[in-house]
Amino acid sequence: MERSEILEVVSNYKNVKIATLGSHSALNILRGAKDEGLKTICLCRERERIIYDSFGVADEVIELKDYSELLNKKIQEELIEKEALLIPHGTFNAYIGKLDELKVPVFGNRVLMEWEMDREKQRKWLTDSNLKLPRVYKPEEIDRLVIVKYPGARGGSGYFLATSPEDFYEKSKELVMRGIISKEDVKNAFIQEYIIGTNVYLTFFYSPVLNRVELIAVDRRYESNVDGIGRIPAKEQLKAKINVTYTVTGNFPVVLRESLLAKALRAAYSVVEVSKKIAYPGMVGPFCLETVFDEKAEMYVFEISARIVAGSNVGIPYSPYSYVLFGEPMYAGRRIAREVKMALEKSMLEELIY
Ligand code: AMP
Repeated sequence: MERSEILEVVSNYKNVKIATLGSHSALNILRGAKDEGLKTICLCRERERIIYDSFGVADEVIELKDYSELLNKKIQEELIEKEALLIPHGTFNAYIGKLDELKVPVFGNRVLMEWEMDREKQRKWLTDSNLKLPRVYKPEEIDRLVIVKYPGARGGSGYFLATSPEDFYEKSKELVMRGIISKEDVKNAFIQEYIIGTNVYLTFFYSPVLNRVELIAVDRRYESNVDGIGRIPAKEQLKAKINVTYTVTGNFPVVLRESLLAKALRAAYSVVEVSKKIAYPGMVGPFCLETVFDEKAEMYVFEISARIVAGSNVGIPYSPYSYVLFGEPMYAGRRIAREVKMALEKSMLEELIY
């Protein structure tokens, strides 16, 4: 879809409503819109409807059989008629893939969201930003502890650790046999040096209206079964032959040692700078740097998300950082709505849509 066609749609909007798919960080996005006085629409599946009916943050619920139905012409027309601005999140990546087929305006930079879904492009973006990244391996090169990942955002399911090529092939075979990954997945495995340290996920916001980078929230993940394994004594761990996995089941809030904020902020500025060269006008709105700080407090960035991440949910109604910055409750969903409102006041809404 050409941007000009989408901007044509936006130019007819008089009362923008905030719409999103009912999952991931929808409660965050919808509550945020309501806190800013905007009307909301939630598109969800029947099985998750109980969530959005229970919290009362969706002024309207549209039921979908499947998330991909969002691309249907009829649904898109309905959304445009209702003056919906779609806020993308992780479920858009996992289930919809190409945002290109959407005529409904989407908040943010679609090209960068596509870069996020391609590991090679992500890597280029982060390397060009002069950040420290974990080394990448081919299966036969594995000579230390590595983490093996698969294409697409899967919430860490099917990931495993390996220490040698033999170990990699053996564990891959077992996962294929158990139906957790496919043979194709094994060929496309992304193998990364495992950095031992503390995980820190930094949610930033780049505001085109205020032309600044803001730190909105920091979290770490609660992952099964890697976070559960420590509750079992080593003797039983060995006997049970447990393979650690990284399925995300939740998140915890984090505050960083203050001096480390300098590294985090510098990284964010540099990622925003490079994003401008990748796809004009660069980053718009929330993004996340997924990092590990090692024992020397070196920051390794292993992923970037070019949209709101679910970990930012820990920042409702505020994180220590958003509170210091705004002096009022502020969180990712609300910050998006605030940006939309500020842009509307300055007649620059189209500058949030690429
Ligand atoms: P990802 O899908 O890349 O976000 O990774 C899922 C989880 O695996 C993360 O939340 C981390 O706990 C862990 N992880 C990923 N990459 C690394 C790495 N290079 N070193 C250490 N842990 C990692």
